[in-house]
This record gives sequence, C-alpha cells and structure tokens, in this order.
Amino acid sequence: MVKQYIYATSSEEALDYLKNTGGVIVAGGTTVALTSKPDTLIDITRANLNYIKMKDNSLVIGATTTLGDIIKSPLCYQYLGEGFVQGVKQIGSRQLQNMATIGGNIAIPYHWRDLPVLLLVLEAKVKLETTNGENLLPIEALTADGYRTFLKDKLITEIIIPVEEKVNIEWEKFTITASDVSILSVATNITLNENKWKRVKIAVGSLTKNPFRLKALEEELLNKEKSIELIDKALEKIHWEEIKVFPDQRVSKDYKLNITKVLLKRILTKGLRAR
Ligand SMILES: Cc1cc2nc3c(=O)[nH]c(=O)nc-3n(C[C@H](O)[C@H](O)[C@H](O)COP(=O)(O)OP(=O)(O)OC[C@H]3O[C@@H](n4cnc5c(N)ncnc54)[C@H](O)[C@@H]3O)c2cc1C
Repeated sequence: MVKQYIYATSSEEALDYLKNTGGVIVAGGTTVALTSKPDTLIDITRANLNYIKMKDNSLVIGATTTLGDIIKSPLCYQYLGEGFVQGVKQIGSRQLQNMATIGGNIAIPYHWRDLPVLLLVLEAKVKLETTNGENLLPIEALTADGYRTFLKDKLITEIIIPVEEKVNIEWEKFTITASDVSILSVATNITLNENKWKRVKIAVGSLTKNPFRLKALEEELLNKEKSIELIDKALEKIHWEEIKVFPDQRVSKDYKLNITKVLLKRILTKGLRAR
C-alpha cells in the first residue's frame, strides 16, 4: 500500500528521493499501479520535465511530456512529420494520451510499448540521470533485455531526436480495437535518391520481447533500385524461423509472424513514394 506520495520539483530531487526512500517513480500513472506496490511514489510531473524544444539540430522532448502534448506540438509535426504524429495518436485513447508520458512509455515493462518502435527508426537518444551524473544513450539501451533493472536507480529526463532534412516516417499497427495495445507494430524511416533506397530504417514492435531494428531487411534494400519485386525478395531472405516470437493470448505465434510480413510489405510499399 502506498504510504507516501511525494512531488519532486526537479530531477535532482526525484533522484535523491529514489535513493533515500526506495520508492518508485510515477509520471502519468497509467501503468505504475499495475506493475508495483511501493510504499513511496515519487511523482515527477512537477519536476520541470515537460517541454518540446529545438536544440543543436535536435528535437528535445522532456520525459514527462504527455503523448497529447506531442500530438498537438507544431514542432513534432514540422520536424518528425505526420507519420510520427499519427503513430502516437494510435497509442490508446485520447484520455490515455492526456496522462501517459513519453518517458513512461519507454520505461513500461511490456513488449507492446509503441513509442520505442518509432524512436528506433529516428535513432533517438535518451538522457538518463543518476545521483552521480548524466548519460546520453541510444534508445537501444532501453530496448535491450534487462532494461528495467538497468533503469532502477535512473531517471529518464529527455529524449533527443536528431532532425534530418527529409524525414519520412510511416507507421502500421495491428490490433483488435482502436484503443487496444498492439499485437504488432512496424515503423519505417525511408528516403529515396534517384530511385534507390538511400536511407532505410525499419523497426518492429510487439513481435518479440523487445522492439528491434530489422537490420537484415534494411541491408537487403539499401542502395538498391526501388521496386515491389525487391521488397518481396528481401522479405523472403529474412530468417523468420530464428525470431523468438513473444506469446500473445489474442493470436498464435505463426499468425503474428504472418502479420509481420504483411505489415512490412505494406509499409515498405508506402515507402516507395518517399523522396
Ligand atoms: C487502456 C490502455 C491502453 C493502452 N494502449 C497502449 C498502446 O496502444 N500502446 C502503448 O505503447 N501503450 C499503451 N498503453 C500503455 C501506456 O502507454 C502506458 O501506460 C504509458 O505510456 C505509461 O506512461 P506513464 O507516464 O503513465 O507512466 P507511469 O505509469 O507513471 O510509469 C510507468 C513505469 O515507468 C516508470 N517511469 C515513468 N517515467 C519514468 C522516467 N522518466 N524515468 C524512469 N522511469 C520512469 C515508472 O516507475 C513505472 O515503472 C495503454 C495503457 C492503457 C491503460
């Protein structure tokens, strides 16, 4: 049972409380009640971590920025594009988006978390603070096994997304109802040059224990002439049998794998329209 609810007014204060009380960080609070039963909750929503700004050619998003703030942000539209914002819009319901934060979505202990999938194709970095200082790590540090243990004494304070001249994010999510969590999600960030795939970033969510970049497929396409035939051939070359599919009570593992191939074909075909 929660005995103490503390509002931290800065990241330093939150980290001190984390060290001294053994409490648990709470941001939007939409998942924390399901995942832990702590004595102390340390609320970081008053720690001045709610902002979206441009800095040194990167879009910097504070950890307690809500999904709703991201959806409404002109900076996110301008620099990350419609595809990114549409992806965030498909996370839960409007009510959830008004509470859930970007930091919270990265930190939740579920294989179906959607935002890291989008952040993987944007090659985002995450600023992590401890009482000993701060570290800037690629988002992959929080999509690797053991990320929850790794986060234990840390606070996500910022997400830093390098802004490229042409961003073309596409997003596909497969689930049962509009507000249900993903059975499968895929994101791409593609640019073409003289009909060749120039930048190809592909990430898959909910298929395995953690979201991941499908680098084998990226390599099959990169610098090659764009065509639907090439997409088909590249998909055939992936060793699907080696992928450890995470179970989902709504569908079988085979079904999940088949849906992955369908969504990838669909999203890469959309990518043929990229510039
Ligand atoms: C009905 C419903 C539908 C949903 N649908 C989707 C969906 O479609 N896609 C999807 O991705 N998610 C979905 N979710 C999950 C939702 O997105 C998460 O609950 C939310 O993103 C968590 O953010 P939060 O700010 O509420 O985190 P909290 O609940 O406050 O915290 C979650 C965890 O993260 C830790 N944490 C939070 N912030 C930080 C930080 N800055 N640094 C370190 N640790 C931190 C907390 O200690 C806790 O362990 C759904 C949830 C519900 C209830």
